Amino acid sequence: MLKMGKTERAELYKDRNTQVFLAKFMTGEIGRLEPVYDPKLGYRYPPVEAIVGDASSAESFLTRLYEAGILERRIYDKIVYCPKCGSANISIHYCCSYCKSFDIQRSALIEHVRCGYMDVEENFRKGNKLVCPKCREESKKPDVDYRRAGMWCTCKECAKSFDVPLAAHFCRECKENFTFEDAVIKDAYAYSLKKEAKEEVALGWVIIAPIREFLTENGFEVESPAFLKGKSGANHKFDIAAHKRGATKKAMVIDLASSTEDVVSEQPVIALFAKIFDVSPDRAYLIAIPKMSENGKKMAELYNIQIIEARNQREAIKALRDKLL
Ligand SMILES: [Zn+2]
Ligand SMILES: [Zn+2]
Ligand SMILES: [Zn+2]
Repeated sequence: MLKMGKTERAELYKDRNTQVFLAKFMTGEIGRLEPVYDPKLGYRYPPVEAIVGDASSAESFLTRLYEAGILERRIYDKIVYCPKCGSANISIHYCCSYCKSFDIQRSALIEHVRCGYMDVEENFRKGNKLVCPKCREESKKPDVDYRRAGMWCTCKECAKSFDVPLAAHFCRECKENFTFEDAVIKDAYAYSLKKEAKEEVALGWVIIAPIREFLTENGFEVESPAFLKGKSGANHKFDIAAHKRGATKKAMVIDLASSTEDVVSEQPVIALFAKIFDVSPDRAYLIAIPKMSENGKKMAELYNIQIIEARNQREAIKALRDKLL
């Protein structure tokens, strides 16, 4: 249902707010974005609000980046909201299972191991000591002389006793009492940048942005990412498309491929070939970071794709300058 894929992400990367936000991850300013609790509004994401304006925009902004596969999220907490006024200023009431009063007394149950007598802790207490009310022997060692045997609740309203209380909620704003059934419960997430998105962003930032700049400065019209229509009628996405100002369109297309290992496989060569076969640009470049595999190079030659191997933006631009100018 989610994962809209590369095209959606490419669109988002162009958005200014997305760029400002992702910059915080790339520079390490944010490692993991955790929500900050506000007693009235529930969880908020202040660094995102600072970019997009307000709390509800921040939420839809984050959801969009998550659905596009840029962010990953983990459940952080659940927030309970009042069904009447929407406040998150909610307290929990533990109630009597008979009369529903929350005025209950909670006690620990203690069992005297030697004689088997069981009672609430208060009846064992004699100052700092625990003394069995039945046999009058002092219990010193936990799990040897005595053991804890759970909790025991007594209702101050109806005087009945029970072991498991009912949970209910009380809205501190509008004073509404409500139960689990009526509670509005919302998930709160912590977000981090997905590994593959990080690679895409790094490519875009470190490589694509300066190449765009270089081409623009040298008299090219640049689109990035570019969606070009082929003979088949299908639209193809290229990382960069450029043509000399005033010249025919589709003159040059550039794709980038990077590998966390040493060499880029032939896969991006094949992908680029399939696109240029349909779009027929004058020239096609594949920038491989840091190197192209031997097999990929052979195929590129066959397909008339020019390979540029570069370890960084400086090398990529230098190679382009040699080829273009
Ligand atoms: Zn309320
Ligand atoms: Zn009661
Ligand atoms: Zn005893």
